[in-house]
Amino acid sequence: MDEKKHIMNLKKRNRCYYMEAWIGFCERPISDGHDLCNKHRGIQCGNRGCNNEAIGQCDHADSLVCGKPICKSCFDKDGDSCQYHATTYKNGKQEYKYPKMREW
Ligand SMILES: [Zn+2]
Ligand SMILES: [Zn+2]
Ligand SMILES: [Zn+2]
Repeated sequence: MDEKKHIMNLKKRNRCYYMEAWIGFCERPISDGHDLCNKHRGIQCGNRGCNNEAIGQCDHADSLVCGKPICKSCFDKDGDSCQYHATTYKNGKQEYKYPKMREW
C-alpha cells in the first residue's frame, strides 16, 4: 500500500502513525487531538542539529536495527534512514550520502 496514503488514513482515524523500524506503524488510537500516541509523542529527531519531533525510526540494519528516531523532513530528505545510514546512487553505485557522518 502507498505509505503516504496510509499515513493520511491513520491521521483521519486518529491513529498514531509513528513508524517503528521493522515493526511498522504504531496505529494506537489517539483521543486528544494529537498526531502521535503518548509513547511516541515528543521524541526528538536523532539527526545531528535537528530538533524536530520524530515520526518514525531509521530502519537500516547491519546486525542490529539502527532505530534512531527521525522527523518528517529528514525522512523526506534521506528516505527511511538517519543521516548516518542515508545512501545515494552515484554513477550507478550506492554510496553513503554523508560520508563525514560515518566518523561520528
Ligand atoms: Zn504510537
Ligand atoms: Zn530531523
Ligand atoms: Zn540509522
